[in-house]
Amino acid sequence: MPDVFADLVGQDEAVVELRRAAAAAAAVLRAGAQALVPAAPASGDAFAADDAATGGVDPSAGMTHAWIFTGPPGSGRSIAARAFAAALQCVHGTGCGECPGCHTTMGGTHADVRMVVPEGLSIGVGEMRALVLRAASTPSGGRWQVVIIEDADRLTEAAGNALLKAIEEPPPRTVFLLCAPSTHPDDISVTIRSRCRVVPLRQPPATAVAEVLVRRDGIAPDVAQWAAAAAQGHVGRARRLARDPEARKRREAVLAVPRRLTGVGAAFDAASALIEAAEAEAEASVTEADTTERAALETALGAGGTGRGAAGAIRGAAGQLKELEKRQKSRATRAQRDALDRALVDLAGFYRDALTMALRAPVAPVHTDTAALAGAGAQKWDAEGSLRRLEAVLACRAAIEANVKPRIAVEAMMLALWKG
Ligand SMILES: [Zn+2]
Repeated sequence: MPDVFADLVGQDEAVVELRRAAAAAAAVLRAGAQALVPAAPASGDAFAADDAATGGVDPSAGMTHAWIFTGPPGSGRSIAARAFAAALQCVHGTGCGECPGCHTTMGGTHADVRMVVPEGLSIGVGEMRALVLRAASTPSGGRWQVVIIEDADRLTEAAGNALLKAIEEPPPRTVFLLCAPSTHPDDISVTIRSRCRVVPLRQPPATAVAEVLVRRDGIAPDVAQWAAAAAQGHVGRARRLARDPEARKRREAVLAVPRRLTGVGAAFDAASALIEAAEAEAEASVTEADTTERAALETALGAGGTGRGAAGAIRGAAGQLKELEKRQKSRATRAQRDALDRALVDLAGFYRDALTMALRAPVAPVHTDTAALAGAGAQKWDAEGSLRRLEAVLACRAAIEANVKPRIAVEAMMLALWKG
């Protein structure tokens, strides 16, 4: 197994900072220090200054309790958080990738590393309180308790407050790693942000994404290059496009939208097709998990029991099944929105290509396979018309994010794309 940071594509600066912090954390453990110095409010780069003064100073200077990893989707926020967790648990160095600490963290089985992956639209206060409580316990491996919160932007306000309390008065050996698209107040509350050190990740360049697909996944170089460009820097998406024929088919269907928009009726048809494709994709991704979960719960509840007490058990069971159904519905909604958002990002890429061609900007197209079509669009619409269409797609994404019903937002977008 290579170094734990190997899969963090195109993020050299962040890796240097995280390695330095892991080394500082190890020094803290060696020195037997009791606590870290919490990040002073709004201290972005405090540690850069501290770092200049080495030897004899507080060994914890390079390390702090709470971190936020920011960056666009696919830039590797959760990969960075997990790799850093491994580096903190590494018993040989700063993420050797070979010791039990690295292995179990990367495999998701380390006893002192907890990962919160929200399945629904938000992370609730109950979940957060339980997590904070467990995070306060002494690390069983003698190093750090690490809590990774993926999509920290989906914390409910109450859950955010529970987390803030823990970050403000952190247990001595607990480290919180938050992942969010940005540090905008819509994503992370200002008070939480002020207590955390921020690690900004950038959209990795297509060449770096292609390189990792070839090296790690054994994908042919030409396919890797095409997929990396089409995925616009999203590593996971690039891998899916390179490997999954269904994902490629869905993308082709989305990119066929622009030439289908020949009238009002066609615009509504295209909207329906896009929504239904997202629903079908989401259903395929959650159905299996839903069925397994329900069967497991029914078995645990002893479905079909007829003995004494069965009636009471059934009443309790109904409540638990209802709870499960609620959770599954929330997960399905999230999966649908994610699928739709992927389609919109592809579509935005097409109009971006048209725009850059109309402007004769010297940049490579996102979708090499529809470049000719985008070129024809550029001629017909000019830069202004291309820009208006790109904006219509982005407005649709923003509207859905703001809870406008997806069908309504997509219909409005299709009409705007047709009319220009
Ligand atoms: Zn290690």
